[in-house]
Amino acid sequence: MAHELDIIPSSEWGFFTLPRPMCIAGPCSAETEEQVMETAKGLADFGIHVYRAGIWKPRTHPGSFEGVGTPGLRWLRKVKETYGMKVCTEVASEKHVLECIKYGVDVVWIGARTSANPFLMQEIADALEGTDIPVLVKNPVNPDIDLWVGALERLNRAGLRKLGVIHRGFSTSAPIPYRNDPGWKMAIEMRSRYPQLAFFADPSHMAGDRKYLLELSQRAMDLGLDGLMVESHCDPSCALSDAKQQLTPRDLQTLLESLVIRDNTSDNEDYKDGIEALRASIDVIDDNLLKLLKDRMDVSRKIGAYKKDHNVAIIQASRWEQVLEGVKAKAGGLSEPFVEAVFNAIHDESVRVQNGILEG
Ligand code: PEP
Ligand code: MN
Repeated sequence: MAHELDIIPSSEWGFFTLPRPMCIAGPCSAETEEQVMETAKGLADFGIHVYRAGIWKPRTHPGSFEGVGTPGLRWLRKVKETYGMKVCTEVASEKHVLECIKYGVDVVWIGARTSANPFLMQEIADALEGTDIPVLVKNPVNPDIDLWVGALERLNRAGLRKLGVIHRGFSTSAPIPYRNDPGWKMAIEMRSRYPQLAFFADPSHMAGDRKYLLELSQRAMDLGLDGLMVESHCDPSCALSDAKQQLTPRDLQTLLESLVIRDNTSDNEDYKDGIEALRASIDVIDDNLLKLLKDRMDVSRKIGAYKKDHNVAIIQASRWEQVLEGVKAKAGGLSEPFVEAVFNAIHDESVRVQNGILEG
């Protein structure tokens, strides 16, 4: 079922401006007034105008630094007054929302542990009702796109229309170099379902280590995402949370300048003619693929009827293994996992069709 969202695009929020990437930057956590102001100055100096800082921190272990709480909101207000930046922070409860409204926070984001929790999402949506604060929703820690969409729907139903998402990757027990599995496939799926949503990547929480920030940020730009949320601290080695993944404002500037930003499209006439011709070829090939798949299913149906007449079971695993080995051997330049995935999908459908015949 398609879940519609009624969105005001970020180009109409008044402060996310092109060119890409729109960048939200600032420390993982607000720690002291000096650290908040010094970091903001470093970022404002090269044109960052949306500042982030965690005020309430969702930490794995109790006793870790859990954020400075409400006094930090005064420092954010000072950032607004001093540097003209918009400020944003994470909210995870009604109390956080009310405090943010009171102190004039411009944008709030929902953390990955919170977007995974429908009770909290509803509480936050109810507390935000009647405001038009932009809300950015991080993907849930687990790769569940419906939970992510559901979080957006709850906000939308409460009348919030300035909505965006932040892709920050997923918890995993797999041995990967990053803190979280980038799982870009889900970002692509989300983007194609809701192209009107402001779409940020959070390379910091994906990476867990500043040495991976450039490659992940570049990947986000290559996928055509709108912006980046990056953690930046005036003195990362002393940060009270996420020290390894934070960058100085100067290093963030260097990173942003090293990104290669390709256009999402081009007005060049030669490009337009060329891409149209290539797309027309793809359309013809897709038509042929569909016709071939249909022919193949027709044969499957006949096999199903034949097996039924002869009282033979539908699935013969050894036969399927042979087919799979055969097609993989002939895969040519196609990757094995791809060929395997395509043929397994065809086989599943074929079994479904044959079962239909058996039961029919
Ligand atoms: C954060 O942005 O500081 C944070 C806690 O992120 P996440 O919810 O993605 O873990
Ligand atoms: Mn952090």
